[in-house]
Amino acid sequence: MSLIVQKYGGTSVGSTERIRRVAERVIATQRAGHRVAAVVSAMSGVTDTLLGMARELSPRPTERELDVLLATGEQTTIALLAMAINAAGARAVSFTGAQAGIVTDGTHTRARIANIDPAEMQARLDDGEIVIVAGFQGRTMAGQVTTLGRGGSDLTAIALAAALKADQCQIFTDVDGVYTCDPRIVPDARKLDELAYEEMLELASSGAKVMQSRSVEFANKFGVPFEVRSSFNDNPGTHVIAEHMSMENVVVRGLSVEKNQAKVTITAVPDRPGTAASVFNALSSAAVVVDVIVQNVAHVTGATDISFTLNKDDLDAARAALEPVAREIGAKGVEAKSGVAKLSVVGIGMRSHSGVAAKLFASLAAAGVNIQMISTSEIKVAVIIEEADITRAARAVHADFGLANGPLLA
Ligand code: ASP
Ligand code: MG
Repeated sequence: MSLIVQKYGGTSVGSTERIRRVAERVIATQRAGHRVAAVVSAMSGVTDTLLGMARELSPRPTERELDVLLATGEQTTIALLAMAINAAGARAVSFTGAQAGIVTDGTHTRARIANIDPAEMQARLDDGEIVIVAGFQGRTMAGQVTTLGRGGSDLTAIALAAALKADQCQIFTDVDGVYTCDPRIVPDARKLDELAYEEMLELASSGAKVMQSRSVEFANKFGVPFEVRSSFNDNPGTHVIAEHMSMENVVVRGLSVEKNQAKVTITAVPDRPGTAASVFNALSSAAVVVDVIVQNVAHVTGATDISFTLNKDDLDAARAALEPVAREIGAKGVEAKSGVAKLSVVGIGMRSHSGVAAKLFASLAAAGVNIQMISTSEIKVAVIIEEADITRAARAVHADFGLANGPLLA
């Protein structure tokens, strides 16, 4: 009998009524002849509410206690879902992360999974029970409660699918799958039937926040194909799978849009070894995550500008960290600006086809959108533009690459 791991996110279990509907779906899956393990998130908003309460009591809550606190969100959902299933006449048993044998390292609030011992879950599944597992949590070897970072229930589901050698892993969420672009920005965005792990990773880390990036990395590393689909209907979703030959024919799979970005430029940085190191050391010590970095060729004066982008919420922290460093290394100053956004085109076909950057720039030019910064990877070209231009830019690029009517083939 085949084994399916299903994951239900916060909105899918956001009320007791919705939990009842998840229970029906899980039972229907079992009655269709499968063994089912379901991973659940906390009910929507619960993790944020708990974090808010913690911050009311402490500006920097102890990380160990944060984990003990946040783990209660998922613990609530597993018990409620198991009760709903039992009440509907099937048999379910709930497992916390610890009970499910999910062992992590000791890095509280962002622990990494070290090992999963599926023996107990396996026994219950063999016995015909539906196994309900709390997402986002585990325990250390010493028995401490840990959590896996925001969005970590996705990681639990993928890791569980690997440990249980599941035949299928389905990630149920509040959207129908992965789209060629965010449909709220580009109304004729199309749902993708399939895409490669790496494309999903680029889309996820550049703003299409359908799934936690670490979970997609894990799936890629351990070869766990999964399907992203809606818990509110029966539409087939998007299959995220290992790259296959014909995927290379699609040059651009999708676009991603990241708003709320900011741009910082350190002007007239003396062109000598060690200056970039000082700048980015200061930022990393301040825990500022930097995205696109551009350094110009030095002017004849022997100085150069270094620019980078970051989330606009980190702008104050970045400025505070940089001002002393700029003085120290003899740069002219620090200029900061919010109100920029990143638009990326993504596709593994870019590895073997040229001209994507040229086409992107032409499309932006025709739409009258100015490009401030450019960054590329093997399967992505990204530009930083004014945030006010992002909708116009995304629609133009989406149209010019023909993404609404099926992918542009090479
Ligand atoms: N409840 C956690 C969060 O909100 C984990 C998850 O939902 O995946 O981040
Ligand atoms: Mg989530």
